[in-house]
This record gives sequence, structure tokens and C-alpha cells, in this order.
Amino acid sequence: MTAQEALQTYFGYDSFRELQSEIIDSVLAGHDTLALLPTGGGKSLCFQVPTMVMDGLCLVVTPLIALMKDQVENLKNRGIHATAIYTGMSYEQQRIALDNCQFGPYHFLYVSPERLESDDFRKRLVELPISLVAVDEAHCISQWGFDFRPSYRRIAQIRKQLDCPVLALTASATPEVVEDIQQQLAFRTNCVFRKSFARPNLTYVVRHIAPKSSNDLQDKVEELIHIVTSVAGSSIVYVRNRKRAEELAEVLHCAYYHAGLSTAERAARQEAWKHSQTTIVCTNAFGMGVDKPDVRLVVHFDLPSSLESYYQEAGRAGRDGQKAYCVLLYQPADRTKLKKRVSDHYPPKEFVERIYHCTCDFLQIGLGSGLGHTFALHLDELCRVMHLPVLQTYSALQLLTQAGYIDFQDEQETQTRIQIKVARETLYDLNLSAEQDKVLQLLMRQYSGIFTDLQYIHHPLPHEILVSLAQRGIITYIPRTVACALTMTQERQADVFISPSIYELRRTNYVERLKAMLAYAEQPNANHEQILLTYFGE
Ligand code: ADP
Ligand code: MG
Repeated sequence: MTAQEALQTYFGYDSFRELQSEIIDSVLAGHDTLALLPTGGGKSLCFQVPTMVMDGLCLVVTPLIALMKDQVENLKNRGIHATAIYTGMSYEQQRIALDNCQFGPYHFLYVSPERLESDDFRKRLVELPISLVAVDEAHCISQWGFDFRPSYRRIAQIRKQLDCPVLALTASATPEVVEDIQQQLAFRTNCVFRKSFARPNLTYVVRHIAPKSSNDLQDKVEELIHIVTSVAGSSIVYVRNRKRAEELAEVLHCAYYHAGLSTAERAARQEAWKHSQTTIVCTNAFGMGVDKPDVRLVVHFDLPSSLESYYQEAGRAGRDGQKAYCVLLYQPADRTKLKKRVSDHYPPKEFVERIYHCTCDFLQIGLGSGLGHTFALHLDELCRVMHLPVLQTYSALQLLTQAGYIDFQDEQETQTRIQIKVARETLYDLNLSAEQDKVLQLLMRQYSGIFTDLQYIHHPLPHEILVSLAQRGIITYIPRTVACALTMTQERQADVFISPSIYELRRTNYVERLKAMLAYAEQPNANHEQILLTYFGE
């Protein structure tokens, strides 16, 4: 089977996107390959297609448990055998998954990098028919990247034990990171595929706003109105927070979009905007899957935290190849605001430890327990109940994820998940109502693993009945919702240790990226496209 045939047969797509087929050919030729494609560029297919062609097992290392489960779910829906192993699965569950990969018709084994630290696991790994190692979000291996994860360093050891090519994938691509990835993974060949960052039809502009009134904000708003009204066609205005998005939408008489809206509402607003020639004011929650070709203008009302994110958001302009503008608004007060972001993102370590315990208390996880359990976490509620500042709490949860205590997933629509917590035999002694019984019967019939693990639920089930079952402790019920998901990757610890590589080093890198953003903003007359390309190593 050729790559083209695999693309059609298994994934139902007609043609490859830019560079996909080059990357796949390189992998099929047995070369260690680094693929730099922007988000949404289709990186997953770059390892999924060659695996289906080669007919072996692909070991996929990927950082976030929730994303891993989604990908496995997606493959299963396409009729492809895939499984995942992550911290918190029982020994028995892991053994079954590994046996399936060794003896069954499995094509994909997703693992979180922490798993690679176990000797037993590594011993089993060499017995598997692995024909490709895919390292997703490969910048996590580099301490120069904006998302360094120490456990990624373990991949280097695995790589030595397995005799097969490696495919590293990332959307973030500064020259140091590119080189570091290849070095850390001991690349034997220098095959790097990079989609050029140049966008000839985009004009990058930085608008410095001279103080007119005594009110900085007012001056900026006036400039925004001026710009939005003078460019015809569709536009996006990016702001930093939800409240500002709502305020500016009112001023501009247009829609706003942020993660505080319900999923249905967000989808409706995105859809309406997509088929119109209007403006939308949004936070960075807007973007995933936005593929409107004729956006003529992207304005940043506030400074993003890195040129990586600026490039990505501004790049939503002019997908149709026609002329479009990317405008960044800047005034001196922004410099001070940027400094404050450092303390928001890196709150003191004692605070991070406090958040760990507050969150565990809030979720009723006792000392020494919780391992492997996933909870829906409503951040606003946690902060309200525990009297915590939202921004710093959010950052603390991310730091705790980096440090390996939890796996915290940002607000997103989660699919309904259910696990039955009591033994099958005891279900009949529980004195259930007819409705409760009906729901449980359906769950047991349709979801075979439901007694051992949370299962994604595809059947519509009555929410109240599920709540009543959860209240009685019969099931764990994580409703479809817009919430954060928190998985305990260790049992609750008494103390929290955050290493310098996770805290100090990352803070330094964060400050460096802010500086690069500031340097871009503070030169109104520079060639901004050139600054971006240089930053990305072109
Ligand atoms: P990335 O990991 O680079 O951000 P994904 O691999 O998640 O991107 O792909 C983004 C979306 O694009 C997915 O919905 C995927 O199915 C789709 N996609 C990828 N390649 C193709 C293709 N050749 N044709 C059509 N759709 C594609
Ligand atoms: Mg991806």
C-alpha cells in the first residue's frame, strides 16, 4: 500500500497538505526526521500514515493524557487498533495493553513520557514490534523551548534501545530548539522539514499610540475603531481577557468570543462570523480550527506573550493569499503590564505548593490517594471557595503539571466520561430505581471497560439519573462540559518539590520571550516580517 492509498483508505482524505508527503517519504525511507509544521498543519498524519503503510507498531510519545486519549479514540473510530499507557493505569491494565501491542493487530501505542522512566516498562518495550517512534510536541525535550518537560529526556534512552527511525514533530521552531531536539534524540540523519514562516501577502504593522487624552485605554480604543473601520472585510481583534473582549465588542458593535461562553454558543458565534464580513473580538481561546480564508485584518489590542503566539494568531489573516494586515497596538504602559505577567505566570513556589493542597482538598483527595483519577475542575469555583487569585492559581496548576504531580488540562469541551465504581455483583443489591437500572444496563452493555477505567460515552443519557448515581457513589460521572480536567499522576504527596529546571529556568525563558515580543513592538518602523523570520531562524 502506498502512502496515498493509506491516506484515502484509513483517513478518508484525498490529498496531502503541504510537506506531509515529503515528511512521510522521509520516514518510510528510514530517516530520522524533524517536522516543523504550524498548529493545525496536520502533524498527526505524518506518523499515522507511514505506520499504516509499514504495518508495524508506532510508539507515540505525547505530553498530555487527555490529548492522548482523544487521539486513541479518534483512531479507534476509524477502525484502527490503538491503545495508550499512562500513569495511573493499574499494572493489570498496562499488561493487557502491552500484550495487545505485542501479540495483537495493534498499530499505535501512545505513552506519556513519565512511563518511560520505569525499568519494567522499558524492558517490555524492546519486545514490541516497534517500527517508528513519534515524538509529538518535540520542543518539550528542549529546555530552550517554551514548554520544557524533564521526562521527555527519557526518550533519548528508549531511542538507543530501539532500532527504528524517529519522527519528531513540533509547531515551535526557533533555531536553538531545532538543534537541541536533534541532539537530544541522537538523530542519525539531518532530515528537517520546515514549512516556511514567510507570508508574502501579509503586512505586519506596529502602531504606537501617542497619548491624546489622560486615559490610555481610551486612546487605544479610538485607534482600534479607526483601524477596524478603515479596513474592509472580515477581521479578528485579539485581547488578553474576557471582560475586555465583551467591552470592545460593544464599542465595535460586533460579536465576542471567549472560553466563558458555552460550547454551543461558541460554535454558533464562530459559524456566524465565518459566513460574514464582520469583526469578532476574542481571547486566544478563538483559533483552534478557525479556517476562514478571507480574514483581511488581525489586530492585537494587547501584547501576546511570545512571538510564537503572535505569529500563530496574526497568521489567521489572509489564508486566501490576498492582501491582509496584521496590526499590533502598542503604548508605553504595555511594558509595565508585560512585567506583571512574569509574577502572574511564576507565582512564588510556596504559593504553588499551597495551590496543590487547596486543589486536593477541594477535590477531596486524601494524602496518599488519588493516583490515576481524573476530575473535572471548575477553576472559578475553586478560586471562589478557597479565596484564590485566578491567574496565579492557573499558573500554579500548570507548574504542578510540569513537575509531574498532576496533569492539568485547560478549559475545553470534554466528552462525557463514566466509570462504574462498584463490583458488578453488588449492583443488584443496591435498590436502584427503574431509570437508574436502565442507564446502568446500557452502560454495561455498550462499554466493556467501564468497571476498570473511565470510558468516553457516546450515548445520550439523562443527566439527572447519572448525577443521582454519582451521588450514591455508584459511578464516577464527568459530564460533557467546559471545564478543566485534572488527573492525579501521583498519589497526593505531603510535600511539593519544584526543581530549578521547571521553575527558574522556565521563568528565564519566559522573560526572554517577553523581551523578544517587546523588541518587536518597540520598533514601529522596523521590517517586522524580517524580525519574525529571523526569530524563527530563516
Ligand atoms: P497538528 O497536530 O499539526 O496541529 P492535526 O494533526 O491535529 O494538526 O491535524 C489538524 C486537522 O487537520 C485534523 O482534523 C486532521 O484530520 C486534518 N488534516 C490533516 N491532514 C489532512 C489532509 N491531508 N487532508 C485533510 N485534512 C487533514
Ligand atoms: Mg498535534
